[in-house]
Amino acid sequence: MAPVLVLVEHSNGEPSDPSLQALTLARSFPDGDSVQALLVSTPIVGLERELYRDTVTALAYDLGARHGVSSTHIAEHEALDSFAPDAWAAILGQLADRLNASAIFAAGTDRGNDVVARVAARMNLPLATNCIAVAPGPPVTLTRQRWGGSLLEEARLQGGRALITVAPHTVPIEQAQAETKVERFTPQLKDQELVVRVAEHVSTSGGGVSLAEAKVVVSGGRGVGSKEGFALIEELAGLLGGAVGCSRVVTSAGWRPHTDQVGQTGTKIAPDLYIACGISGATQHMAGCKGAKRILAINSDADAPIMQNADYAVVGDLKEIVPAISAEIRKQR
Ligand SMILES: Cc1cc2nc3c(=O)[nH]c(=O)nc-3n(C[C@H](O)[C@H](O)[C@H](O)COP(=O)(O)OP(=O)(O)OC[C@H]3O[C@@H](n4cnc5c(N)ncnc54)[C@H](O)[C@@H]3O)c2cc1C
Repeated sequence: MAPVLVLVEHSNGEPSDPSLQALTLARSFPDGDSVQALLVSTPIVGLERELYRDTVTALAYDLGARHGVSSTHIAEHEALDSFAPDAWAAILGQLADRLNASAIFAAGTDRGNDVVARVAARMNLPLATNCIAVAPGPPVTLTRQRWGGSLLEEARLQGGRALITVAPHTVPIEQAQAETKVERFTPQLKDQELVVRVAEHVSTSGGGVSLAEAKVVVSGGRGVGSKEGFALIEELAGLLGGAVGCSRVVTSAGWRPHTDQVGQTGTKIAPDLYIACGISGATQHMAGCKGAKRILAINSDADAPIMQNADYAVVGDLKEIVPAISAEIRKQR
């Protein structure tokens, strides 16, 4: 039977949550067919190669033991030392052809969408992004998010092989067990497929805690008032071991980089706690944070829209409330 192939993004052998969510949805798709995974090996310069290899191999087996994958394919190539979207698309396409995969799934992350869109262009196949539910066809039927999640679209996907990305943080990760085979292979890559590639990694302003993966995010909006005003937000985020986020007004004003923006045109997050300081709660902002388990809103306006979506609300000046919370945390330690 034709397998379903899932691209699993990982950082040094640590799988990304959106990829595990994509795996969960992929398992619901084939109705008995096997789910197989692709890991692209990109050894980090400075990290011992054998150690890196062992870590990725451990992940490959873990995808079977905990996520129901029947075969994990590890792509290794000496030119692959960083993310290169064309090369990844070539690898995914070659493997899908070799396995005669009925569908390709990936996380609906920047990378996942980038790679699968390139596969679609290469294979002249339609791509459905940001899906939250799928059923095998033909034709494949699916539900996908539009307008940052404020609209759900029911659609049918025509074409030989279904290309699907899964909206991050919309499908809970479910565990499953399978005996997995691990295969290493060397893809055929052309020079031009390695032209676009990550050349350098720069640490985020959060000092290493990624906005997309952080358990706590402290976010500031126009109410913070200035670039310097974010010192209060950074302090609280630091005390909670969290990441700093912000609204689009803030990135447009140049107070924070775009990588900190939460929302429809920013990062979509699902932390345990989201603390929104001086943010009104526009739909485009909420599209990025509605996956949070708890929202604490701090706003001087009791009628701000975010207050309706918050689990906890504090009405008042963030410049007094945020330092008071930080002081209280310090006192408790
Ligand atoms: C196509 C499109 C895409 C967009 N994408 C995004 C996106 O990805 N992310 C995003 O955030 N926005 C996005 N926007 C913009 C969005 O519509 C809003 O304009 C933006 O989110 C508002 O940012 P804000 O809440 O910081 O500012 P405002 O709406 O101006 O709200 C500021 C809030 O701060 C409060 N406040 C002021 N002073 C204080 C104080 N001292 N203490 C406490 N509270 C105070 C005010 O009461 C108010 O509620 C998008 C818009 C469009 C059209």
